[in-house]
Amino acid sequence: MKHLKRIISFFLVLLFIFACGCRQTEPIDSSGKLTVYFFDVGQADSSLLIFPDGLTVLIDCGNKADGPLIADFLKSHGIKSLDYFIATHPHEDHIGGMEDIFLTTDIKNVCAPDFNGNEPKSKYQNSLMENIEAEKATLMLLNENTNIISKENYNIKTLSPAKSSIYSDINDYSLCLIINCYTNTLLFTGDAEEPAERDMLTLPLNLDADILKVGHHGSRDSSKQEFLAAVTPKVSIVSSGIGNSYGHPRDEVLERLANIGSEIYRTDTVGTVIAKCYEDGFNIETDKTICLDGDR
Ligand SMILES: [Zn+2]
Repeated sequence: MKHLKRIISFFLVLLFIFACGCRQTEPIDSSGKLTVYFFDVGQADSSLLIFPDGLTVLIDCGNKADGPLIADFLKSHGIKSLDYFIATHPHEDHIGGMEDIFLTTDIKNVCAPDFNGNEPKSKYQNSLMENIEAEKATLMLLNENTNIISKENYNIKTLSPAKSSIYSDINDYSLCLIINCYTNTLLFTGDAEEPAERDMLTLPLNLDADILKVGHHGSRDSSKQEFLAAVTPKVSIVSSGIGNSYGHPRDEVLERLANIGSEIYRTDTVGTVIAKCYEDGFNIETDKTICLDGDR
């Protein structure tokens, strides 16, 4: 009996090692689609995009404690390099985890907002610039209506910050993006609030989107009625922490989204949200096992 137990234990250990080994070499198959992971990083932001040709983009990388978990996720899915790291704005909950990402991943290009002479005195901004220099990555400082990538099946364009606006809040300098892939449109608005939303509405661009990454974790000063009326997202994704002290997402925002008939996914209740965008539409999956919240 003892002997049998030992044999079973031995095979269980083997099975565990085998399973771990498999995980480490399991690449994400994104052929024929754009796969977007809206990571569950608690009260923070981080999304990974893998385009049909394998191009990888990481938008933000959560709080400091989330960095190692995001780095592990990339490694275990065979992502050794990032074509683009988008630092929407220099707040801890968006780029606090960068140290680990820069240390473990080959980052080719970094996109950050052009503050147009109003650079914030932020230790995260300084740290970002130091990491870019050490990594020898190409830095692109961007404002409104600029193509970052334009390919046959997809493109990534900036919406904000506006060239001529001076904002009092760093959040409004968030580098906002509109992404088209096949027939699908996605909007990422960082922590932009009403002033930036108003500026985006003046652009000569159609903001109508299928999927909206809801601004500022669902703060009541973001996702204003006028902005939502232009975007009319079929699906809205909110990144917020369980029981966060800000009360994000705010009830009035959830109400505004519900009023336009948008389906709402919250990382604090469903975990990581995964959007797969195909030639003829998209689907949404959720996965509670992908929790990259280092604070939990
Ligand atoms: Zn934030």
